[in-house]
Amino acid sequence: MNTSGGSEQVTLYEKWRKIYPLSLYGGWQRWRRVVLSILVGIYYIGPWLTVAGEPMFWFNLPERKFVMFGVTYFPQEFVLLSWILMMAAFLLFTATVLAGRVWCGWACPQTVWTLVYFFIEQKVEGERNKRLRLDRGPWNRNRIVRKLIKYFLWAGVAFSISFTFVAYFETPGVLLERIMTLSLSGAEWFWLLFPAGASFLFSGVLREQVCFHMCPYARFQSVMFDKDTLIISYDEERGEPRGHRARRNDPNAPRGGDCVDCKLCVHACPTGIDIRDGLQYQCIACAACIDACNGIMDQLGQERNLIRYSSEHRDRHQAVTWKRPRLFGYAAVLLAICTGFVWVLTHRIPLELDIIRDRARLYREHWDGSVENTYQLHVINREDRDRRYTLRAEADFPFEMKSRKGEVLDVAAGEQIALGVQLVSQGDPDQPANRPVRFVVETVDEPHYRVLEESRFLQPRGDE
Ligand code: SF4
Ligand code: SF4
Repeated sequence: MNTSGGSEQVTLYEKWRKIYPLSLYGGWQRWRRVVLSILVGIYYIGPWLTVAGEPMFWFNLPERKFVMFGVTYFPQEFVLLSWILMMAAFLLFTATVLAGRVWCGWACPQTVWTLVYFFIEQKVEGERNKRLRLDRGPWNRNRIVRKLIKYFLWAGVAFSISFTFVAYFETPGVLLERIMTLSLSGAEWFWLLFPAGASFLFSGVLREQVCFHMCPYARFQSVMFDKDTLIISYDEERGEPRGHRARRNDPNAPRGGDCVDCKLCVHACPTGIDIRDGLQYQCIACAACIDACNGIMDQLGQERNLIRYSSEHRDRHQAVTWKRPRLFGYAAVLLAICTGFVWVLTHRIPLELDIIRDRARLYREHWDGSVENTYQLHVINREDRDRRYTLRAEADFPFEMKSRKGEVLDVAAGEQIALGVQLVSQGDPDQPANRPVRFVVETVDEPHYRVLEESRFLQPRGDE
């Protein structure tokens, strides 16, 4: 804002300012580091896990099959992915109503990787004050060397993230070998380097700006909050009027509020906001301000939790209620989706039969009055073991089935076979021109799977 000659200019453009958060140890931050380590560990270990010699997670795009927890899925089962996405969405909604921005502060990849990049920055450039001095000082040898080391280590982290990401699509051993022998194609190099660049930029450089300006979820999740949703809140009644106070002062002497205006909560905040101004959309609920303030309260011999996890009802000294329609609504939908998903998984038949009728010719009439219909059958083995199946047809009229491949079909793991099948029946003008037939494919050995597909048998109309 500029004031000159009585007129006032308000700039609508907010200049980006780098945030130098304090590093905190203990309290909620200890638990955040534990959660972070678990999540990062799962991400890195995932592609290396195997079940009976096969990868536990493998999104094999060239062969169009996806292995999850050792079970192979094929593109025809992509509906399962929509179930998983719906479950994830409603789990997120339920968690948001219950615990506010818990996802943002504790589990979002942007937050998790930002903490990793920040950890490196802090180790290389030092604590907050050192980092500030370094950035405000001249480009001397010390600054150049530290920046180079930091960016080099960041690049290493970015590449490891990218490598692991691609390793979910191409097994890590193969990927490693192809990188070492420089035998990756141009497209593969792109997919190896693009996530690395994105991670470096978003989590290393842009950090909180991604949450402010790029993440849509940050903008709309507040509509899910109710008055009992957990939020990070400053206890204004206790803290105000804020003001400096010597540490040696008698805490019981008449004075202002408990907030000594040390601004540590602001300096600890990775998004650079002052939680004492009230809940803001920039707050990612990381609880760093709680730990910072608790540290000060401990030093002053004051009760902790001047900044704490609270809720609108608690802040107003109103009773917490469990009659929360939003919470129960989301939880009920989540439960229904989970139940449906479990049912779909447990009733999944890893065998598929597709039937395509010969469209060029509806039927063929033979010299002896019989009628022949031709079908193209695709039998898909969606298991990771070879299978033997039997094929038969059922109809409520007499017919003969002919198939060059016979009625016993061997299909390799994850493969499909196509076979032409002819049904021949004596033409009967008294019968409808269009009658149902069923093809049945069954596994020969255990466990026993069976699929049944309906089709039609066509013949000339009686008056033709
Ligand atoms: S206000 Fe507190 S909880 Fe919110 S982002 Fe800043 S430090 Fe984290
Ligand atoms: S850390 Fe606590 S005492 Fe210090 S300014 Fe923030 S709220 Fe006040």
